[in-house]
Amino acid sequence: MSAVSPLPVAASEIRHDWTRAEVEALLDLPFPELLYRAATVHRRHFDPCQVQVSTLLSVKTGGCPEDCAYCPQSAHHGTGLAASKLMDVDAVLEKARQAKANGASRFCMGAAWRSPKPRDMPKVTALIREVKALGLETCATLGMLDAAQARELKDAGLDYYNHNLDTDPEYYNHIIHTRTVQDRFDTLEHVRDAGLKTCCGGIIGMGETRRQRAGLLWALATLPVHPESVPINQLVPVAGTPLADAPPLDPLEFVRTIATARILMPASMVRLSAGRAQMSDELQALCFAAGANSIFHGEKLLTTGNPDTEYDRRLFQRLGLHPMPVDTAKSTLTDIPGLTIVRESGGCGGGSCGCSGGSGSGMTLEEATRKREAAQAEREPEDGCGCGCGCENG
Ligand code: SF4
Repeated sequence: MSAVSPLPVAASEIRHDWTRAEVEALLDLPFPELLYRAATVHRRHFDPCQVQVSTLLSVKTGGCPEDCAYCPQSAHHGTGLAASKLMDVDAVLEKARQAKANGASRFCMGAAWRSPKPRDMPKVTALIREVKALGLETCATLGMLDAAQARELKDAGLDYYNHNLDTDPEYYNHIIHTRTVQDRFDTLEHVRDAGLKTCCGGIIGMGETRRQRAGLLWALATLPVHPESVPINQLVPVAGTPLADAPPLDPLEFVRTIATARILMPASMVRLSAGRAQMSDELQALCFAAGANSIFHGEKLLTTGNPDTEYDRRLFQRLGLHPMPVDTAKSTLTDIPGLTIVRESGGCGGGSCGCSGGSGSGMTLEEATRKREAAQAEREPEDGCGCGCGCENG
């Protein structure tokens, strides 16, 4: 007789009352049963063969006063990453125009700050207004926000805000000492109250236990509103950071985390983020089977790199996956934070990656890939977030 209990009806519901014990029990399920349940939930809410593709642009890299143990952008760690100032409006707009010309409809701006300073806000809001005026949706990740800042960003035309919980609240002070997990919850509340949509996930492989991975997922799944996008990052150890020698995570633990996130937050985009470059094709395939339906796409997501466009195109072909049409993403999910422009016939279209899968392009993914690569050759390389965790500024 099987030790596996029947699939509970509640597994397909949008719930915010999960207990830690329930989440731990899901993570502990026999692997085939966990994947079966996650895949079942996935099919109730999405086409499992469609994957949303996202990219992002760093508008201010490095020199961050926070001490996140995983992050090469922290000024506390000797990673040799050069700090840059906030990009000028004209420079960002040029990137945004390029993105739009290549088919982007959404543009995400990330800055390595603890929080925006008052002197930064006029420029940030100008960036948002100007990018919005181009006819692009806007997304930002700027660190912690107070209520007034969140409203100011909303008023400027911001659509989405990224702010990760990072890890289990109970493990938080092992990873970050310059802020508390309550600071994160507070910012998320301000973001929601301002009417912004949220992108919120975390990083695994930072020495936490399975129980603590359950704690992160539980914290995400019990937020008053599930994040529209849930990036699950795998730590990329970076020399010079305190986690440079973190023991490697069992890849199957990563798949378990993805599957459990899918079950807990059925209608959210579960995103493979940092660490994908280190994953085998087989591991990525398992993650898609477990309910991941979003990826970061582009040659230089972070300082640690990301699978390139051609690689992703081949992987999608081999797995029978397709970029998610943007309209599908909107209607199914209420929408997706991050630089997320996906065309059924046109590839990524993401703002900072310059992919050419744009609005009305009618291009195939292959054509979009060729055009994107040509566009990339004509412009300077972009830095992406620059953070080794893929957290879009933590
Ligand atoms: S993760 Fe974000 S907040 Fe933390 S050090 Fe890096 S840029 Fe700063």
